[in-house]
Amino acid sequence: MNTLWAISGLASLTWLIWFSWRYAWWRPAIDQRHPRILMYHMIRDPIKRAGFNGMRVSPHLFEQQIRWLKENGWRFFTLTALLEQGSRIPEKSVAITFDDGFADNCTTALPILKKYDACATLFLVVNRHHQEWSMHKKRHHDSGELMREPKLSDSQVMELIESGCVEIGSHTMTHPNFGLMDAGAKKMEMLQSKELLESKFGINIKAFAYPFGILQPEDPGLARGAGYLGAVTTEPGISDWNCLDPFLLQRIKISGKEGMLAFRMRLRTGWRGANK
Ligand SMILES: [Zn+2]
Repeated sequence: MNTLWAISGLASLTWLIWFSWRYAWWRPAIDQRHPRILMYHMIRDPIKRAGFNGMRVSPHLFEQQIRWLKENGWRFFTLTALLEQGSRIPEKSVAITFDDGFADNCTTALPILKKYDACATLFLVVNRHHQEWSMHKKRHHDSGELMREPKLSDSQVMELIESGCVEIGSHTMTHPNFGLMDAGAKKMEMLQSKELLESKFGINIKAFAYPFGILQPEDPGLARGAGYLGAVTTEPGISDWNCLDPFLLQRIKISGKEGMLAFRMRLRTGWRGANK
């Protein structure tokens, strides 16, 4: 009997340690006056044995997340609206962002955003068709998995803009690796993409996302010089809105491999668990 007690005690303790490590419930919550910026890529079901399923959030899970935000009193803002509000931003503000320009952002995410009266900012790569830019970060990422994912056509981008719930931001011309480029080339990527998107779609582009979240110390200044209002990184967390560099905004990464508990933990602290 004593052995049984010992085994079940040990099992409970192991579970508690695993749970605490995975969900970091003990981490203090970040004040809800600091807005949360969420990062998504695709809204589609995962593909069996695919390498990038973290970037694929299922439509069902996405809808659960948006509904949860709405029901729990979170207010949706585009990134530019957040920046323009500055310190007047209300408590429980959230900005949904999508990177790259996958077609499902229009076909699948947009109807869900509309259903819950939500809005989002989409960081679009200008040359997004038939490109495998994953290799700009890691050369062995040459499977073509992300290249084969359908990207937004120009008419779909227009549909997003005309819906009134999606702001378009720039994610450069070619999704390069800023860690390997000189200042002139980076500035060109920032300027050209802004001008091209503005003239093609008749809009103002004010928000920028660094490709892969890779940036050098000079890059926030380059983005500011290129005429943007702010820029997002992939640095996990929730930026302190009081002492903010609008060109170094942290984001909460939403993974298709995690469920609602992880989502709620991330909204609370910016992190899911002890180490990520
Ligand atoms: Zn990207």
